[in-house]
Amino acid sequence: MPLMKKPAKIQRIEVPVPFPPGSTNCYFIPGSAPTLIDPGVYSPEAVKSLQTALRELGSDIGDIRRIILTHGHSDHAGLAGAAAAKGRAAVFVHRFDENRMLVWSEKVCNEKAESFRDIFEKAGVPEEIAAKTIETILDRFRKNFSPVSDMVLLEGGEVFSFDFFELRVLHTPGHTAGSISLFDDSEGLLLAGDILLEKIVPYISAELKTPMGRPHYLALEQYQKTLDLLGPLPVRSVLPGHGAPCFSHLQLIERLKRNRARRRRRILEIVKSGEGGAAGMSQFEILERLFLGASRGGVLFMGISEVRGCLEVMEKEGVVVASLCRGRKLYRLNSQNHTPQEAR
Ligand SMILES: [Zn+2]
Repeated sequence: MPLMKKPAKIQRIEVPVPFPPGSTNCYFIPGSAPTLIDPGVYSPEAVKSLQTALRELGSDIGDIRRIILTHGHSDHAGLAGAAAAKGRAAVFVHRFDENRMLVWSEKVCNEKAESFRDIFEKAGVPEEIAAKTIETILDRFRKNFSPVSDMVLLEGGEVFSFDFFELRVLHTPGHTAGSISLFDDSEGLLLAGDILLEKIVPYISAELKTPMGRPHYLALEQYQKTLDLLGPLPVRSVLPGHGAPCFSHLQLIERLKRNRARRRRRILEIVKSGEGGAAGMSQFEILERLFLGASRGGVLFMGISEVRGCLEVMEKEGVVVASLCRGRKLYRLNSQNHTPQEAR
């Protein structure tokens, strides 16, 4: 019997994205149930590039049987519906990110617009800037997501079987509430989506609606728990959502923790500066000082998510106090319960 060459286990395909960071990693797993993890954004360039790469690997979009999404952001998931429609692939996404997949529908887009308005109003974003930003975001939703009808919803704990190995679903919320990682215990391979990235600090998305079953969902708290969950795993290589594989996940986790702690200290310094007056400062005012006014346009929501995420945890810990003033949430230092090491 001739020796059969064992095919490569997981193939990385870089799919172009028309906004930073410029590309997303799609992972292709050949075999009897050809599978894509994060097909990428929905754009003619991305479809073409994915199709070309698959053909070079001896496959075709139409052959794909499973599409697994690490989370519901457009640069990872926008193409899922179109790719599934070319063959007979099932689309798997965590149930907390299901709603993110439905923004191709005008009805869902309009609902989201309302939620964005509410978030921006509470954050103290000036009306004109908020309106422009929401238009930009909705425009991206309409362009970058293809319609997807049937989705299989994940909880975490499921196991996907392949010809030579298995991938276990880990629910790793924080970047989004429904972010998952996929872990191959046998070789220590961790497909981490946007949870662990080397060149970018993954932002913690504010959720427009409180995820089901999580009445007090705090994105940053969840992200920190996720890092604590991934740390002890016997990971040998991280296959991230963007950029090259990384072989030292513990160093990466430590760096991401340090980075966020630094950001929290900086936010606290800004709140402490008292520039907002006795009533305190809004998330937008803090963000303007944190990134020196650079957080505008499409990235404003990321900036607000980040500042809000840090403040929510600091409020829970009693480091800052918040009050509602004409629709805006204002933050000031909690002088009664001040954590000294935070203030350094
Ligand atoms: Zn993402």
